[in-house]
Order: sequence, then C-alpha cells, then structure tokens
Amino acid sequence: MKKQFAVIGLGAFGTAVALELMRLGHEVLGVDSSEEKAEHIADSLTQTVIADATDEEALEELDLQRFDAVLIAIGEHIEASTLCTMLVKSLGAKEIWVKAITSIHHRIAQKLGADRILHPEYEMGLRVAQSMAHPNMLDYISLGDSYFLIEIRPGEALENRPLSELKFDRKKIHLLALKHGQELILQPDPDQILRRNDHLVLVGDEDTLRRFSEEL
Ligand code: ADP
Repeated sequence: MKKQFAVIGLGAFGTAVALELMRLGHEVLGVDSSEEKAEHIADSLTQTVIADATDEEALEELDLQRFDAVLIAIGEHIEASTLCTMLVKSLGAKEIWVKAITSIHHRIAQKLGADRILHPEYEMGLRVAQSMAHPNMLDYISLGDSYFLIEIRPGEALENRPLSELKFDRKKIHLLALKHGQELILQPDPDQILRRNDHLVLVGDEDTLRRFSEEL
C-alpha cells in the first residue's frame, strides 16, 4: 500500500532515506532550507519544498498530520532539529523519526515525543566493525538480548558437501534457510548440497553463532 512520508533535511542521510522510500513505491515530500539541496533532488521526489523547518507557519502549510511518518534529518544542527521536532509534534504528526547526533540530542528528542531516534553513524559503525571482524558474515539483524539472525557465506571446505556436515549445536542455533542465487530455500533438507556462493541464514545466540562462523 502506498504511504506518504515527509523528510525534513535533505543532507546525505535524509536524501538516501527519501530516495529509497520513493524506490519502494511511496510518496515523499522533501523539505530543506537550502535551495540548492532541495533543487538537486526535486525531480526524484513527489514534492520538494524550500522552507525553514523551525518556522511554525512554514511547517503548518505542509499539513504534516496527513503523513504516515515524518523524518527529521537535520542532525548536525541540534537546535534546529529539536525546535523542528517540537513543532512537528505540536502540529499533530502521526509518527516522528529523528536523526540524533549526541546523547543529549537523543534525550531531548525523546522528551519531545519522537517515536524513533536514529544514530546512523553509530549504527553503521557497529555494522562495519562486525563485517571487519567477521568477513564471512554478510548481514545480520539484532533480535535483542544477544540473539541474532545472520546471513553467512560458508568457506570453500564445505563446497559440494551436504548441510548435515555443518557442525553446530542444534539446540542453540537454527538453520532457517539456504540462499542459492535468487532462490531462498526455507528449512533446507539435511541432504541439500552446499554450492559455491550459497549463503546460510541462521538464528541463535551471539556467542554460539560467532564460534560457528569462525569455524566455517
Ligand atoms: P547529513 O549528515 O545527513 O549530510 P547534514 O547536517 O549535512 O546531514 O544535512 C542536514 C540538512 O538539513 C542540510 O541539507 C541542511 O540544509 C538542512 N537543514 C538545516 N537546518 C535546516 C532548517 N532549519 N530547516 C530545513 N532544513 C535544514
């Protein structure tokens, strides 16, 4: 179903989010005080407005309560970001996402009623560290409480071997799927042969998954 989003602040982060939302088939209003930033992306978004997001009257005209979610991505400018968050909240936006850069910024956004507070540089830093430390781990999702869902590429030693030869504690890790090219094979059979470039999708606790991926 097509949704409507507003992205306030079209820096590198806001622009990436706005373009991906468009790619996913949604409608996106982009707002930036810089004419240059707004014009640069204008042709790629549903609507683009040049406005100061700390100006209540300008925000009122955007009718922000009609959007499914509003992202405030003016992270480097804490004062503008917090003022904007307060105004967007008071104008009745349904859901507010804020990019924060410091812990104080995070706490203020929380107090002002932001629904989701993001730290993209920090979160990306964690992902990069994981990839550097575990090169065969292609992606992961933290499920909280030290549980993870991971996608890994097994080493060459397992090429053309059946899945039953994978050595892991089946009480602590569950093999959810095998990704073979474009195909996702759910609950693969133990006789299924691992081919070059196949990926394994596993769920389990962090320590057991780490040990398993290091031994692969
Ligand atoms: P990023 O790390 O995503 O590149 P920036 O801080 O560079 O973040 O980008 C923030 C964007 O927010 C810039 O395009 C800037 O013009 C815009 N911006 C800053 N203050 C305001 C404001 N008061 N109203 C609207 N947009 C703003």
